[in-house]
Amino acid sequence: MNRTVKNRPHKGRKAGIVSNTNTGKWRKAAAKKAAGLLDWIYPRRCPVCDGLLGKKEQYLCRRCAGKLKPLEEPRCRKCGRPIHSWTEEYCGECGKERHVYDSGFPVYPYHGPVQASLMRFKYSGRQEYAAFYARAIKIYGGERLRKMSPEVLVPVPVHKKKLQTRGYNQAEVLARRLAREMGLPVDTDLITRKKNTLPQKELSPEERRKNLRDAFALSHPGKKLRYRRILLVDDIYTTGSTVDVLAALLKEAGAEEVYFVAVAG
Ligand SMILES: [Zn+2]
Ligand SMILES: [Zn+2]
Repeated sequence: MNRTVKNRPHKGRKAGIVSNTNTGKWRKAAAKKAAGLLDWIYPRRCPVCDGLLGKKEQYLCRRCAGKLKPLEEPRCRKCGRPIHSWTEEYCGECGKERHVYDSGFPVYPYHGPVQASLMRFKYSGRQEYAAFYARAIKIYGGERLRKMSPEVLVPVPVHKKKLQTRGYNQAEVLARRLAREMGLPVDTDLITRKKNTLPQKELSPEERRKNLRDAFALSHPGKKLRYRRILLVDDIYTTGSTVDVLAALLKEAGAEEVYFVAVAG
């Protein structure tokens, strides 16, 4: 499919307000005013070039619309990364390694403008980019998300200290936005990040697994989960080891299927 996320009128926002009564009109006007005020206090920016968005530009600026290309088919049935042949089911990594999670997908390749955008999203306070990312996940992952049919979205937690210095968990910001798009709840009270992990890149696979296993824990050990199908949400998918550790914990607590979605990978 060759669709790209373009600027559209606020369809969702308008759909809820169809009444022609005065209350409806008043509410509509108030919502518009509030949105305008928010735009003035926190001007919305294009997630690709970081330029200010015009009034009619909802997700991307005009120059950047269509610039980002999602990962191409065919893709691995497990991790959602591109594979070379339509006759293969899995990528090299997923063919030899058994993941604990059921399946998932990143939307964009992690390089170039997407990489730069995600860095600003994570470290420079550009939380509003989540609107675009969530929209892209919904558009490009529509079919996959429907098949997963998750009951709840769970963001990959960050450590308390990181939350203090950064002010927010970018995965949670994304999960909340995506949950709104999908009409699902978000639960941040299932898993806790116990300690600040070392940067994964510098570790061997074995050290990485150990490091990660000790980093997360169930928030309420021994308590059975209310959910059977859970969708983990993160900004970037790298080796899948974090997703696996979280999936193992959630399955231990009673989840039957654990999926993931990421902006890039
Ligand atoms: Zn732009
Ligand atoms: Zn794979």
